[in-house]
Amino acid sequence: MKLYRLLFDKINELYKNSPELHEHRDVTLELLKNKAEGKDPPPTQEKDDRPIVVVAVGHSRKGDSGATTWDGSTNEHRYNLQIATQLCELLEESELVKPVLLSNYGGKTYSQAIRWLSDKVNSLGTVALVVELHFNSAGNPKAKGSEFLFWHSSQKGAQFAQHFSQKMTDFFPTLVERGPKPIKSGQRGALFLRKLAPVCLLLEPFFGSSASDWKIFKSTRGKSDLVRCYFEAIVESVL
Ligand SMILES: [Zn+2]
Repeated sequence: MKLYRLLFDKINELYKNSPELHEHRDVTLELLKNKAEGKDPPPTQEKDDRPIVVVAVGHSRKGDSGATTWDGSTNEHRYNLQIATQLCELLEESELVKPVLLSNYGGKTYSQAIRWLSDKVNSLGTVALVVELHFNSAGNPKAKGSEFLFWHSSQKGAQFAQHFSQKMTDFFPTLVERGPKPIKSGQRGALFLRKLAPVCLLLEPFFGSSASDWKIFKSTRGKSDLVRCYFEAIVESVL
């Protein structure tokens, strides 16, 4: 139980100024308790063996900024850079995982950027999870909700995507849960999800083209809850 004690202290420290999130904290602690039972604490002092998590900002290639929100106030890259930065700070602070933020891809075309990303991820050693942050967009303004894309034959991908999806509904009960979405060759995001060796997820938490979704996620509260939601989904998936 030594490991759990360590996690317990870290998580409590992180949540001490957010009493409204104590319910979430308790769920996270319960889950970590089950996972930590019987394991020894990681020797963090001498050797950093925290699981590596890559947080990649979608549309980080030069000349690509992704979809724009319906009110034109921001785009995927700008919005998610802020979310990813705060998420990595939280992950780093927790000392539970080692986050690597990627927000500036090499390569001139989409496939070159994915190759660049793949080389980058491979150079990091054993990576537990790669998430790429996006938001969805559709011509139909009625399309809304969250979606989590994974490579169709990846069992862990399916499992993690399910966890992200549930977590999203816990944090945003009014949001439509479109659920985990298995992706095959030729479909949106296929190259990214297939090409990278570790478990990869493409996160589409809402539709920027939906006025009601955007109302939730443009707010300061919506953004901080999204960061917290990703944080919990990540640590609970990889630990
Ligand atoms: Zn995108």
